[in-house]
This record gives sequence, structure tokens and C-alpha cells, in this order.
Amino acid sequence: MAASAQKENRIKFALHHQRWSYENDSPNQLRIEAVKVLATDYQPKMEGKLFCPVCTTNLVRTPKDKSIFSNGRRACFSHLHKYVGIPCDLRSKKPEGKTYLNEEEVRQAIESNDLVVISSFMEKPPETAGLSSGIYDQSSVEDLEGPTTEVAIGRHNGQKFSVPTKLATVHSICRNFDDNLYKYYVFPESNAAVRLIDALTDAASIETKEATPRLYFGRIISSRNAGINPKPTNLRLSWLKHHESVKDLCIKDTDAVQLSKGINDDSAGRIVLFWGRITESGIGLCINRPGWGEYGLLPTKYNDLIPEHNRK
Ligand SMILES: [Zn+2]
Repeated sequence: MAASAQKENRIKFALHHQRWSYENDSPNQLRIEAVKVLATDYQPKMEGKLFCPVCTTNLVRTPKDKSIFSNGRRACFSHLHKYVGIPCDLRSKKPEGKTYLNEEEVRQAIESNDLVVISSFMEKPPETAGLSSGIYDQSSVEDLEGPTTEVAIGRHNGQKFSVPTKLATVHSICRNFDDNLYKYYVFPESNAAVRLIDALTDAASIETKEATPRLYFGRIISSRNAGINPKPTNLRLSWLKHHESVKDLCIKDTDAVQLSKGINDDSAGRIVLFWGRITESGIGLCINRPGWGEYGLLPTKYNDLIPEHNRK
């Protein structure tokens, strides 16, 4: 039980629906009407009414009657053996990226919001976002249309397709993080479509500078304005949980921009998502002056959805 359940830890939530059935109803109906439930929020009355967010077959919580296993590990959701014939990559611990048969299939996946191809993250806030006394209204910023770009996500030997892209922000990934978690993303400079849950890498697993940009999550230990007489134009250093072999790891950006993202002196314990390269800073590591759209604070209600085991 424990070994098979361990494999299931990519199922971060189940979809709960009172009347829906895999055999008789449409996946779209489930996705629109269901409520997301964490394994820790399971109640016995939900038995038989929980479904996988990817393949939509029934899930059970294990163990059924308590929120932790006898070995101290947290409860989780598992697929039923009855549906073993229905393919679902959440059954596996090490998923492969998705490939597509033709350009039409890619375009349909983008249209139905199952796939997001990001050409780049915004370096600066778009002018329409409004800027009053240095405060950006992040919530009003939507992803913009990017250029049509060739991406090698074809099923046959990395065949390339020409597809529409987004000029995105990490903030928009954070905003509806639960809805985005199982979507496929093609990130800048990448030729693989991977689920968000599998793309996220724990910044605390990084032991040295990283030239290849990727999407990281980091837990803030502390954050402070580095100025002697603090001003919004000073740098703010936000220190992240780091690998034991690294002296420290921080995000360096101006105080004004970090504050606009909700990162301040009280942000210890919060999770920040960021896209980019990790460079050296003294004898530690840093994310130096990320672009405006390259990082964002995860709303605390999503903390339990973070794939804590994703090491580099
Ligand atoms: Zn499934």
C-alpha cells in the first residue's frame, strides 16, 4: 500500500462532485462543476465522489480513515485498479512530456487551454497596466499575445510546429495555480511540453549557478530593504531556503517592485515562483534583477499544491 501510494504524490487534489459519474457524464461538466479537495480535507461522505483531475476516473483517499499513515506520511489520493486500462500520467512518478501529432492538435490544445506556449515572460509591465506612484495593479495584467513561434513538440523526432504563443507573467501562473497545475507548458528556450507540476523545480535543490533558465519555487526565509536609509529605489533582498552546500540564495530586485508583488518584511514562509537563471553573488547564489513578469508570490491557499519533491 505505502509503496504504490507513494507513486501517487503527483495527485495534489481530487475533483469532488456529488452526482457525476465517469461512465455517464462528460469530463467538461466535472471540470466546471467540481470542487477541488486536498487529501487532508477529505471527509468520509466524499467516498465514491472523488475524481482524478487528469483522467477523471474515481480516486480513493489512502488511508481512508485518518489523515496520516502509521509511518507518519501524509494521506494521499490513489487511482482505482478498476480503471487501470485508462491511461493517466498521474499514475507514474516520472512523467514524460507530451508530444503532438500535428499542428492542428497543438492549436486545439492551446485553444482549449490545455497547453500554454510561452515565448517569453514580460520584462516590464504593459503600459495598459497603469502605474500610479510605483504601484502596479498586478491583478489587472493578463498574458499578452506573443509571436507565432516554431516549437519542436511533434510526435515524430521532434517535428516542429508553428503555433501562437503568450507573452506571460509568472504572476498569472500563480493566480489560478490550481487550474494551471496540470496544464502543459512550453517555456521559453524549451522544446518540451510538460505539466506545470513537473516543470517546477525546488530552488533549495540548486547547488551551483544554473545557466539554463527554468521555473523554480522557493520558500522565503526573510526579506529586507538593503538601504541604510531605506527608500523604494533601494534593492530589496529576499532570502530563500537554500541547499545546505550553498551559503545563501536570494532574489535581488528593487524594493518598489518587490513590494508591488506583495513581498515585504513579513514574507517569511511565503512561496515565490520565479523564472530564470541562477547566478553567483559573492559566495552565495542569486536571481539578479529578474524581469517584472519573471516572478510572483504564490497565494498561501496554494502552498499545499507545491511539488515539494521536485529536485533538480
Ligand atoms: Zn488519473
